[in-house]
Amino acid sequence: MHESIGFVGLGIMGQPMALNLLKAGYKLTVYNRTPAKTTPLQRAGADVASTPAEAARLADFVFIIVSDSAAVEEVVAGKGGILETLKSGAIVVDSSTISPGVSRKMACLTAGKGASWLDAPVTGSKHGAEKGELTFMIGGDRATLDRALPVLQALGKKHIYCGVNGTGLSAKLAQNVIQSTMVEIFCEGLVLATKAGVKPEVMMEIIQSSMARATLTDFKAPFIFRGDFTPYFPLKWMHKDLTLAMEAAYAQNTPMPTASAVKEVYGSAKAQGKGDLDYAAVMTFLEELAGVKVRAGDQVK
Ligand code: NAP
Repeated sequence: MHESIGFVGLGIMGQPMALNLLKAGYKLTVYNRTPAKTTPLQRAGADVASTPAEAARLADFVFIIVSDSAAVEEVVAGKGGILETLKSGAIVVDSSTISPGVSRKMACLTAGKGASWLDAPVTGSKHGAEKGELTFMIGGDRATLDRALPVLQALGKKHIYCGVNGTGLSAKLAQNVIQSTMVEIFCEGLVLATKAGVKPEVMMEIIQSSMARATLTDFKAPFIFRGDFTPYFPLKWMHKDLTLAMEAAYAQNTPMPTASAVKEVYGSAKAQGKGDLDYAAVMTFLEELAGVKVRAGDQVK
């Protein structure tokens, strides 16, 4: 592998993604705002940069995965941002879930440097990132994606081309509207049943024998029933994504009556201080409203 990669953002998702690029044999220079998070990558053989610009200086590809639109604007166009050093011909792959509009603006700024930009948000959470099995939703120039594909293959099992810049993010926001609502409504149903005296494990057996069965709730249920809300996907980011979806819906004149209510549920849970827990902690908010706890033993798989 002769390509050199800059990697910006070593949070829950960025850490395992960067490690997978190293394992695949790429030369990696990493940057993280909080320097301590670079230590595992340095131990694994990455160079450490003190600014995003330094991480991008020699890079053929620059990967970004930071929290939100403001963070992307800062690491790209702020002081010490990648635009200060980005090579002509380089490809920036941004996997942060941000506003499609802000992403298109970043694509224009990147084009001004003779480089290319792909919005490439992901699904698969921390597990998928660790196993290199993420699904990417990609917006940008198709030929740019074809050039980036060999690198992206070290990170994901599926790379779905959505169209021009910003469409990968539009797809991602739609996907999270669906996912957040599925988990929220699963929790509402479980709270209703538990308060009526139906045991969660009985309810789970019924759901798993019915058309309501879903991979997502099969995965989340054991964590919820144990009361384990270790963040795989923090609730504050799910609320961010619902807010971005609502902004897009407003701009597109697309009514989303249920999703806007679901956004308020996650927003209320976040306001209560649950933002750093996994988004399945929406269950605890609903439990508190109803005055009941939905917990079950280890028999729920
Ligand atoms: P995270 O663990 O909170 O990490 C966020 C990263 O962004 C950290 O490296 C943080 O640096 C950096 N950051 C935040 N603001 C910054 C700024 N102003 N300048 C520079 N760096 C900044 O979040 P995550 O779970 O990895 O998620 C990252 C992105 O992926 C989000 O857009 C999220 O919606 C998306 N996503 C997450 C998942 C998931 O399951 N976790 C799945 C799909 C998509 P510090 O270390 O200094 O705080």
